[in-house]
Amino acid sequence: MFGKILIANRGEIALRIQRACREMGIRTVAVHSTADADAKYVRLADESVCIGPAQSNLSYLNVPAIISAAEVTDAEAIHPGYGFLSENADFAERVETSGFTFIGPRAENIRQMGDKVSAKQAMRDAGVPCVPGSDGALPEDNNEIIKIARRIGYPVIIKASGGGGGRGMRVVRTEAALLTSVATTREEARVAFGNPTVYMEKFLENPRHIEIQVLSDNFQNAIYLGERDCSMQRRNQKVLEEAPAFGISRRQIDKLGARCVDACKRIGYRGAGTFEFLYENGEFYFIEMNTRVQVEHPVTEMITGIDIVREQIRIAAGERLTLRQKDVVLRGHALECRINAEDPFTFVPSPGKVTGWHMPGGPGVRVDSHVYSGYTVPPYYDSMIGKIITHGDTREQAIARMNVALSELAVDGIKTNAQLHREIVNDRAFIQGGTSIHYLEAKLAELHK
Ligand code: ADP
Repeated sequence: MFGKILIANRGEIALRIQRACREMGIRTVAVHSTADADAKYVRLADESVCIGPAQSNLSYLNVPAIISAAEVTDAEAIHPGYGFLSENADFAERVETSGFTFIGPRAENIRQMGDKVSAKQAMRDAGVPCVPGSDGALPEDNNEIIKIARRIGYPVIIKASGGGGGRGMRVVRTEAALLTSVATTREEARVAFGNPTVYMEKFLENPRHIEIQVLSDNFQNAIYLGERDCSMQRRNQKVLEEAPAFGISRRQIDKLGARCVDACKRIGYRGAGTFEFLYENGEFYFIEMNTRVQVEHPVTEMITGIDIVREQIRIAAGERLTLRQKDVVLRGHALECRINAEDPFTFVPSPGKVTGWHMPGGPGVRVDSHVYSGYTVPPYYDSMIGKIITHGDTREQAIARMNVALSELAVDGIKTNAQLHREIVNDRAFIQGGTSIHYLEAKLAELHK
């Protein structure tokens, strides 16, 4: 096992990874920007290194600074968390060629999955169900593009191969709008991702977002840890997640999970990963694979009792998975509310000093947050400041516990989206279960009328 790990991230996930390391007796190195010098996880780390000024591109995305921090502290491995450099294949490669272990998949797999066209190709080859589409990049020829769209049938969605974070997508409902939409998405993709490749998919009108968590070691062992439902989204950003997914049979999930496990073995995947699907009319359609730990991993931890970050570290250290598929037993139901420093209705970020911070507790309640009373939320980064996770024997109990937890939650000095979460967990359609990815936006539009 590693003696020392450098955590190349900030905020709640830096603390989450640090907690796993400390529990395992591994020393930690925190790297931070000048804006995060006073963070709790920086103080709790065995060592810390300032890697640059507040702007991420000069600090958390500063590869040479991170590598030198690992060198001067003699760290053996680097955990990238999520966001920042976590899905950057060049970084993973650089970490390994510099003599450290990257806690994540091989660079080759990150690259393959980071390009959505090659990811879909790999999944089709592995027998994972995909959204009907162009089967590869769109050609230059306009007549060909029109033909492909006719074959798929409108509406279609044009997506950037290098896209991410809900950017680089455009829905097209009529042939008249097709060619301009393709040209615009191409241009945007070229500017935003440095890759003008776009592809086309059938646009699913009212799907749910269901994802499968996997763990895979270096010895051709892979398992899936059930599914999560992340349909409660705003602008393609997840707001509240749960596990398991309401109303989908175990049989169907198990069949899909087995396909994902096969895909992992086939591509030689290493570490934790997530296969994301849209689910409509009883069918699953692969959209992308995330090659890192995800924000919503705790809901899976709560229902399986498996520490996903610990497993990531063990796998990276070359240990075998000790769990077999039959050891993965799902118990109860879990929910996660992402708490953001923002206005609950206009969504304008609300950084600043937290003057009061009162977190919920009690049976089945978990809080993952680096914030404390007196902490200042810097304006430079993502507005997520923590996650409230609840677990119960049933979905009803998990919801009831979330309701209590949200009523106990009090944050002073800055605005948070807690009120939005209170409305969601008391919403009739949510309580009933199975709402689609458009539900929240429609509800918000209704509230703003
Ligand atoms: P990103 O990497 O930007 O997150 P994804 O491919 O995962 O891109 O898509 C993000 C979101 O966009 C999905 O969760 C879904 O809401 C929507 N989306 C993507 N593809 C389709 C599709 N074929 N039909 C309908 N919605 C889609």
